[in-house]
Amino acid sequence: MKQRYSIFSLVRNALNYHADWQEAWRSPDPKPAYDVIIIGGGGHGLATAYYLAKEHGITNVAVLEKGWLGGGNTGRNTTIVRSNYLWDESAHLYEHALKLWEGLSQDLNYNVMFSQRGIMNLAHTVHDMQALRRRVYAIQLNGIDSEILTPAQIKELVPMLDCSPNARYPIMGASFQRRGGTARHDAVAWGYARGADERGVDIIQNCEVTGFKIVNGTVQGVETTRGFIGAKKVGVVVAGHSGVLAGMAGFRLPLESHPLQALVSEPIKPILDTVVMSPQVHVYVSQSDKGELVLGAGIDAFNSYAQAGSPPIVENQLNALCDLFPAFSRLRMMRQWGGIVDTCPDASPIIGKTPVQNLFINCGWGTGGFKATPGSGNVFAHTLARGEPHPLAVPFALERFTTGYLIDEHGAAGVAH
Ligand SMILES: Cc1cc2nc3c(=O)[nH]c(=O)nc-3n(C[C@H](O)[C@H](O)[C@H](O)COP(=O)(O)OP(=O)(O)OC[C@H]3O[C@@H](n4cnc5c(N)ncnc54)[C@H](O)[C@@H]3O)c2cc1C
Repeated sequence: MKQRYSIFSLVRNALNYHADWQEAWRSPDPKPAYDVIIIGGGGHGLATAYYLAKEHGITNVAVLEKGWLGGGNTGRNTTIVRSNYLWDESAHLYEHALKLWEGLSQDLNYNVMFSQRGIMNLAHTVHDMQALRRRVYAIQLNGIDSEILTPAQIKELVPMLDCSPNARYPIMGASFQRRGGTARHDAVAWGYARGADERGVDIIQNCEVTGFKIVNGTVQGVETTRGFIGAKKVGVVVAGHSGVLAGMAGFRLPLESHPLQALVSEPIKPILDTVVMSPQVHVYVSQSDKGELVLGAGIDAFNSYAQAGSPPIVENQLNALCDLFPAFSRLRMMRQWGGIVDTCPDASPIIGKTPVQNLFINCGWGTGGFKATPGSGNVFAHTLARGEPHPLAVPFALERFTTGYLIDEHGAAGVAH
């Protein structure tokens, strides 16, 4: 049993100078075989393992991670969480995730610092306003909170924002999801890892999958840098490297891998207590608990596996920030980084079966999968456990690219978040 985290355990451990904290998860050697192997120790992979154990009683599970937990996009993203998607299929999936976020810290007994500070999407033109209304009404019809704000209401919520009619891109209104917000990305990976480990899942870091053993069209296990490991079922959850893993298994995915970058400013006093995004001028910004402004924008246009980004994106993003918040022009930027995102032609994920029997895939979350982490893990665990997609995952099958039943969420993906 894991030690519970609470104010009492904090005090008890303080008396021993914090020398006696239990390890959050073990680092076992891989067993020769498992019932289920999850490839990828990001938030989605770890959440999958957690729900496999917790909800389906499947505990003979290994998560294989080539680097360290959360070292991929989970630890690189700008942590925006929301469920304001246009189409019913996406709305239901992301809302499932948002509901899980709302109880996640308690469920995991791990503070993921989920902060429902609201998410605002600005509109700068008549056309923006029309599209925004269309989306808000669709979201409301799905029973999800979403509202339209006037410039006066926006100014009240974000006094720093330039809402004057003389602004370069005048603000005509905004959509607002009050239940949206941010969370602490590393904590999400660590909380799921701790919860999965507690239920018997083996978490194996520095273990890269280099190939699959496939006999008569059925997966039998994986080749890794730590030897062959057998498995009855394998789930691939490797975000920007999904195409590489699919290639090892002998099939192709309709994905492109692009760098997506983000940056943070020096820390300042609390100044922004919501998330502001503008798909039109292409920037979004929130303030972290440390005081840094966290900034994101769009993907780099070229395909790459280099976890960096190109300067023009940073330049445009900072121009856009200064257009919206002239006072921020005095800030210094502190760190910049990139991650590799796997984007589908319809900006929606792929969850479900592959052409290889007992090999399942969860990918294509592109620029916006962090918000889906609990829901994605939850439906993928169901899919792995039953061998059939969770009802919420059915529309997101790989087959939609042959049936043509695409779920075009380019508008909701908008500015990359
Ligand atoms: C800069 C940036 C900003 C973003 N901002 C947001 C945001 O604000 N909100 C939002 O919702 N989403 C955002 N995203 C997207 C989000 O980060 C991802 O969709 C999500 O984190 C994907 O989670 P994951 O667990 O699938 O992937 P990852 O965390 O990338 O995990 C995949 C893991 O697989 C491992 N792996 C790869 N190949 C192998 C192999 N052969 N063997 C073993 N392991 C392997 C990798 O090392 C990695 O740790 C952003 C992404 C970036 C890059």
